[in-house]
Amino acid sequence: MESVKQIIRDIPDFPKEGIIFKDITPLLADASAFGETINALKKRYVDKEIDRVVGVEARGFIFASALAYALGAGTTMVRKPGKLPYKTYQETYSLEYGTDTIEIHQDAFQPSERIVLIDDVLATGGTLAATLNLIRKNFESVEIEEVAFLIELDFLNGREKLKDIPIHSLIHY
Ligand code: AMP
Repeated sequence: MESVKQIIRDIPDFPKEGIIFKDITPLLADASAFGETINALKKRYVDKEIDRVVGVEARGFIFASALAYALGAGTTMVRKPGKLPYKTYQETYSLEYGTDTIEIHQDAFQPSERIVLIDDVLATGGTLAATLNLIRKNFESVEIEEVAFLIELDFLNGREKLKDIPIHSLIHY
């Protein structure tokens, strides 16, 4: 994954001062880097009988749908409020200032489905922790194989918030 790592671009002070934003658009634009990324994920999950890959808005959708296709699985979206058209379950979680909410459709999973969750970046872990709560609370029989990230920002210790679930990150900073 070293060549894929090289292609990810740092944008200082975006979206606000002090944040170094990991811009994955050059990776998405590069057929071989994007292919290598999806193939690495496919290799990891191909024998795990995954029914669904769950993507977290919005960049998570890109990886979730490509991986789902590669695995012959379905894909499910976890979205910001007001975007999903059918009946939803919601989870509200704390941010540094204020709160945020995520939603999933009430018919997102069949009983006992085996799923993988995916997002582009593990930063503080808040979003994924809320996603796990949302799924566990409302779909008790669903089996979560693992949570996958393209990038993990180790210095933010997001893993601490996701202690009770296996995590796999392709690239670390
Ligand atoms: P988290 O703090 O782990 O809840 O991060 C939430 C979301 O913010 C992730 O899904 C990322 O897409 C995005 N994000 C957070 N920090 C960064 C960063 N430094 N570069 C790019 N995306 C980020």
